[in-house]
Amino acid sequence: MPQLPYGFKDLEPYISEQQLTIHYQKHHQAYVNGANNILQKLDKARKENAELDVKSTLKELSFNIGGHVLHSLFWGNLAPAGKSGGGKPSGALGDALEKEFGNFDRFKKEFTLTATSVEGSGWAALTWCRQTGRPIIMQIEKHNTNVYPMFRILMVLDVFEHAYYIDYRNDRVKFVEAFWSIVNWDEVNERLKEILK
Ligand code: MN
Repeated sequence: MPQLPYGFKDLEPYISEQQLTIHYQKHHQAYVNGANNILQKLDKARKENAELDVKSTLKELSFNIGGHVLHSLFWGNLAPAGKSGGGKPSGALGDALEKEFGNFDRFKKEFTLTATSVEGSGWAALTWCRQTGRPIIMQIEKHNTNVYPMFRILMVLDVFEHAYYIDYRNDRVKFVEAFWSIVNWDEVNERLKEILK
């Protein structure tokens, strides 16, 4: 489990202490435990040369690893409102979004619609295509990061109901609106810098 770069109370009032604690300690931890259990199961089956349902085991493994990777990215692209959270991106990221979407508000609108229209459980992701040098918004179903190797993830938003049900009940739109006040644009910019190196 990665360390959270802020305290459990620090994203209030947009994400409550209780919501963040349960999301991080229960849900994220469950994906880490799940992945470790499957890896152990694979080890055991190989040692004993035992039969294995490869298809379902690998599906379960990728679900749990995807959950771990996406949550780790998610915690990192959030920050307390007013300190490093919220506002608009500047630098290379700000320029790239403006070039691709025309202006920040248009990007925000498209990303919001991406997040609110995920069917069931999933994520909205801002990715960077290294082949074309363009930012691309994607939907991720469950934790299936069906992302091609040339796409790197810059920013994600968790829209599983477990991410917001304590604070917003079933109102995903309200949660997505709150997200914009706690985006850590400096971190998202750093991720882009790493890719462009
Ligand atoms: Mn989650």
